[in-house]
Amino acid sequence: MKVLVLNCGSSSLKYQLFDMTNEEVLAKGLVERIGIEGSTIKHTKSGQAAVSSTTDIPNHKVAIRLVTEHLLDANHGALSSLNELSAVGHRVVHGGEKFAKSVIIDQEVLDVIEDCVPLAPLHNPANLMGIRAVLDVLPDVPQVAVFDTAFHQTMPPKAFTYGLPYHYYEEGRLRRYGFHGTSHFYVANRTAEILGRSIEELKIVTCHMGNGSSIAAVDGGKSVDTSLGFSTVPGILMGTRSGDLDPVMVLHLMEQEGISPKAMSHILHKESGVLGISGISSDLRDIEEAASTGNERATLALEMLCYGVRKYIGAYAAAMGGIDAVVFTAGIGENSILVRQMVGEGLEFLGATLDISRNNIRGKEAIVSTDGSRVKILVVPTNEELVIARDTRTLVKE
Ligand code: ADP
Repeated sequence: MKVLVLNCGSSSLKYQLFDMTNEEVLAKGLVERIGIEGSTIKHTKSGQAAVSSTTDIPNHKVAIRLVTEHLLDANHGALSSLNELSAVGHRVVHGGEKFAKSVIIDQEVLDVIEDCVPLAPLHNPANLMGIRAVLDVLPDVPQVAVFDTAFHQTMPPKAFTYGLPYHYYEEGRLRRYGFHGTSHFYVANRTAEILGRSIEELKIVTCHMGNGSSIAAVDGGKSVDTSLGFSTVPGILMGTRSGDLDPVMVLHLMEQEGISPKAMSHILHKESGVLGISGISSDLRDIEEAASTGNERATLALEMLCYGVRKYIGAYAAAMGGIDAVVFTAGIGENSILVRQMVGEGLEFLGATLDISRNNIRGKEAIVSTDGSRVKILVVPTNEELVIARDTRTLVKE
């Protein structure tokens, strides 16, 4: 059974073709600058060199058609006919309170994704464009939506409700939703497998740290709290997003400096975080390098990031009444030896002791705590595409 996984952005589209008989990736690629001059596609058949081309790609429908042409190509393709394609699975950012798990896409599902556009104004419209493009190009292939928010729908009201007048939740849907759910789900379950334990008996704090970051408390396999909220701004310091703030400070700033809501949103999403503090870069590799040569603001950004992660781990251990494992994933979590070390250095009181030499790895699965550490610390590269492919297979087989 072959499943195509799509992650559609407003001007980009990432894809992976899976053979689900052995969960092997047959081909993958990236289309960029859709609707912008100089559109490109980069396609890689597994085991071969990538092929790239620049061509006119005015919309997602043309992009999907181009992807199918590459998948059928005699040299670098991976399908002999489109009939081999059993289903398409989409990453969809926001499912609101309607979707606590993945679903087969029909008109009703499309309507709900549309209804969630105000909650994710940048992402859901792009996801919808991708789904509609597949409907046009591959009308007979079933499609599945896998939501970033779904895994966190198990949070109890005490964790997801904000302290505003309650009608803003009832009427305005203002609550904590959380994001990166597919990644938290994957690494929590993989942690249980690696430890040879049942997920039901584990309390895990999952740290997804990339350009966007979130920490989650996963108790018995269920998300019970997470650091992103109504939006993708709160929580720990991110590449360009602020993380937790005093909301009144934002109002103060807008009033004092005459900043419009749109400009304030840009500051919170694009000018803050590691970039805003360091004044150097949003890329943690640049920050580590600058800090190593004594740059004070780069050092401050690094310290704020790691202090924030440590605070969330402590808070979530308390929220769950205990902790068995901490797992690091995504670009920073998988690759930054220094960040894991700086976070780990303050966790001994919880029973979590990092092994400095085991921690000296990048981008692969490992237990990086000492043998005697009661709380295990792990690195688990995330694989959201595999979760999407698995959910898609399960749903179309039902
Ligand atoms: P996204 O949220 O866009 O998917 P990623 O998960 O790819 O982001 O993470 C990107 C982040 O990972 C960047 O801040 C980058 O600096 C960081 N990163 C990647 N490799 C390393 C490394 N070797 N050391 C430190 N940070 C790294």
